[in-house]
Formats: sequence, C-alpha cells, structure tokens
Amino acid sequence: MKNNPSITQYKIVLLGDTNVGKTTIFNRYIHDKVDKNVGSTIGVDFEVKSFTYKKKKYKIKLFDTAGQERFRTITQAYFHMGDAFLIVFDLTNENSLISIHEWIQSVQDAVDNCTFIILGNKSDLIEKLIPEDIINEHVKKYKNFFFKTSAIKNKNIKEAISKLIDLLDEKNIKNRNNSFAVEEGNNYNKVGNQENNNKCC
Ligand code: GDP
Ligand code: MG
Repeated sequence: MKNNPSITQYKIVLLGDTNVGKTTIFNRYIHDKVDKNVGSTIGVDFEVKSFTYKKKKYKIKLFDTAGQERFRTITQAYFHMGDAFLIVFDLTNENSLISIHEWIQSVQDAVDNCTFIILGNKSDLIEKLIPEDIINEHVKKYKNFFFKTSAIKNKNIKEAISKLIDLLDEKNIKNRNNSFAVEEGNNYNKVGNQENNNKCC
C-alpha cells in the first residue's frame, strides 16, 4: 500500500477461538456477503477496504487468522501485523467466551498499549445464547469495548469496527500531542522519553 498522507491506514487483526465466526465477519465486512461454507482459512488472509468515514478517508487492511487459532500456533508476527484487534467469541459457546482472556493476554504480551474490542458474535441465535450474567462476568471490565454482533444477519459489524477506528484515531491524536510535547521540551526530556519508548523485551 503506497502511503498517502490524506488517507488514514489501519491494520486490524481478527482473533478468537475457531468457529466463532471470524471468517464470516471478515467476509461480511469486506465483501458484504456471507459464504455458508466458509471452512478453515488456509494461510494468512487479508483484504483492504477503502471508504470515507466522518469526512475522512480510510484504508482498512483486515487480517483473518489462517485456522492456526485451532492449534494455538498464532505467532508473534501475526500479532505485530495489527494496529488493533477484534477479539471474537461465540455468544452460544461459553468456552469461547472464557478464552477471550487468553487472547487478550497474548496480544497484550506481544504489543504495548494495544487497542482492541470484543465481539460476541452469533447474536441471532437467540434460543442458545449464554446467560447474560455469565457474559457480564467476563466482559464487564471491557463494557465500553464490547459489541454483540451477527455476521449472518449483518448486525453491528460496521458499528464495532467504526468504534475501533475512533479508538485508533484518538490514540493517534494523543501520540501526536505527546511527541509535540517532547519536541518542545529540553534535550534531557527527549533522551528520557526515548528511553521509555524504546523499552525492549
Ligand atoms: P471462524 O473459525 O472463527 O473463522 O468461524 P467461521 O466464520 O468459519 O464460522 C463458523 C460457523 O459459524 C459457520 O458455520 C458460520 O456460518 C457460522 N456463523 C458465523 N457467524 C455467524 C453468525 O453471526 N450467526 C450464526 N447463526 N452463525 C454464524
Ligand atoms: Mg476462519
């Protein structure tokens, strides 16, 4: 992707247990359609979507896990592809809900100050949903960053990704302000700040 300063580009990575609907969400968001026979993705898959949102131009590169999530072999390299993460569970599968904590931990271990939101997918399966109090128990800490979605019925996918874009924009503005503050500071501050930012491994 060629860098065009008037276009904001973000990379978003889908994470979560197998069968929660990541590939269906991917197809819904990118192609606005669902393929009933999605199956496992082979190889890391990504697609780019360009659009205007709140009068700004965006290019979103969305990554879908390649079925490795089944074997928990997602590599650090995969985590590092993302500016932000969609952590998905299945609203009818409690194990996938419990797993979000591991996904969050893995991504936080790999990426400093990472941005993510949580999607509880398959909200259309109303007779099979996990009881609300159990869901709350796991997501209450993230309640402003939690969306119930249905990739099949096209519910809330765009809204959730818009929220993620808002969070990334806010983070960019903050980072920009911080770097201005450093530039305006003295040399001592500059060095101090660089050391902090470069803290490694
Ligand atoms: P992945 O392994 O996380 O990529 O999950 P898939 O996208 O392959 O979906 C697994 C299964 O769940 C497929 O049979 C999908 O049709 C189904 N599925 C995905 N999203 C939804 C949804 O929102 N509602 C319902 N009812 N089924 C869904
Ligand atoms: Mg898949």
